Amino acid sequence: MTTLRTPAQFCDHDLVPPEDRTALEAVAARYAVALPPALAQLIDRNDPHDPIARQFVPDAAELEVQPQELSDPIGDDAHSPVEGIVHRYPDRVLLKLTPICAVYCRFCFRREMVGPDKGKALSAEALALALDYIRSHRQIWEVILTGGDPLVLSARRLRAVMQELAGIEHVKVLRVHTRVPVAEPARVTAELVRALKVKGKPTYVALHINHPRELTGAARAACARMADAGIVLLGQSVLLAGVNDTPEVLGDLMRALVECRIKPYYLHHGDLAPGTAHLRTDIATGQDLMRSLRGRLSGLCQPTYVLDIPGGHGKSPIGPDYLARTGSNGAAHFVVEDFNGQRHRYPPPSA
Ligand code: SF4
Repeated sequence: MTTLRTPAQFCDHDLVPPEDRTALEAVAARYAVALPPALAQLIDRNDPHDPIARQFVPDAAELEVQPQELSDPIGDDAHSPVEGIVHRYPDRVLLKLTPICAVYCRFCFRREMVGPDKGKALSAEALALALDYIRSHRQIWEVILTGGDPLVLSARRLRAVMQELAGIEHVKVLRVHTRVPVAEPARVTAELVRALKVKGKPTYVALHINHPRELTGAARAACARMADAGIVLLGQSVLLAGVNDTPEVLGDLMRALVECRIKPYYLHHGDLAPGTAHLRTDIATGQDLMRSLRGRLSGLCQPTYVLDIPGGHGKSPIGPDYLARTGSNGAAHFVVEDFNGQRHRYPPPSA
């Protein structure tokens, strides 16, 4: 099997019924589609609600755009001073090298910007200007390569960019966001891992993984190659209806990440990307799920639940909250809730 890129190929592999093909042609005309074999093989054809299929197989529901949905839901464009750079927070920038991904997630927050028909990889001239921007802004402490997916680039090109960045004195940390280790684990070769490691600057790799079944043996081995090389691995997951919105699946995912030496970092609330309402939960559901993790699972397994505020205002943690301030003036104190839901006054009342 090769990477599936058209509704006809999805039909041929029993991933969508033939009667849906026409509607899916309209989806594919609007949003990029690609499903590599490593993920296609995980899908249970007999399960109409398969969580892997829900993430990657195009769905006619994507044609239903809600009024509140936005083409640029996290406001990248408003913070892009030069091509390829997003400078939203003072001490860090995104560097987008390519609009290509190994797999196109149906809920992608950059779905209007990623795909083979959404421009080209950053040209040598544009990259030089982006690097000049980073060099001339001494407050930039961290550079985050994102996309598209930077790990679809050749090891040679990636190494060249990583070394340029490592050579900038004030840039102290390099971070790469990717889905390649689960989508195409064989791409994570020893050469690619060497390209990610640069002298004198730590590399963090943030892996986008939403369901424990994505961590196949091959994916785990790809992650291990990076961890063994000294790369710090972080987990980023998107909360998705019908994929990971139960305490059992979310807990299993967080534990599987930690077992693979991937520290859960963020659980993202689903962004208001166009045509993704069928995959979003509400925030109260997300908070209940976070409560289900707290206390039941090790502290290592706790991500921060965040919302990217529409309009480019950045991420904020969205609870749940365990601390409330109460009383006034001299009687002011806190009430803190434990993982069993019991409330305690802090500081405790004097005896
Ligand atoms: S890998 Fe990331 S950028 Fe690419 S489609 Fe999935 S969520 Fe979007």
